[in-house]
This record gives sequence, C-alpha cells and structure tokens, in this order.
Amino acid sequence: MAVNLDPDLLSILVCPKCRSEFRVDDEANELVCTNAACALAYPVRDDIPVLLIDEARDTREQQPEAAEN
Ligand SMILES: [Zn+2]
Repeated sequence: MAVNLDPDLLSILVCPKCRSEFRVDDEANELVCTNAACALAYPVRDDIPVLLIDEARDTREQQPEAAEN
C-alpha cells in the first residue's frame, strides 16, 4: 500500500520531535524522520500522517547509540 500524500503537504511536514524532514516509506506506510539520531517512523492512516510522538515507531533498534569516549 503506497503512501498517497500531496507533495506540497509533505514538503512542509517535519518531525515533531527533531524538526527534520521526512522520507516516505511506501511499504510500511509510514513517514520516516531523516535524522539518523531520531529516525522515528510515523504511521499514515487513510492518507493522513499521524505526527504524534506517542504513535511513532523507533527505527533505530539495529543501530546502537554511539559509545561515549
Ligand atoms: Zn525526528
């Protein structure tokens, strides 16, 4: 199922957590934050992005946080 969003709308949307732009994940039907340190994926329901941090999925699980020096 493809994400069907108005490109103009997508261009003004930013991650509510870190204010980064999104990329569209058509397979997962999600908007994914392009900030690698944030990388939250927000669901799109009925072509409406749900930009709530509580609803977002953390996609960083395979990438451990950088170790402190
Ligand atoms: Zn973000």
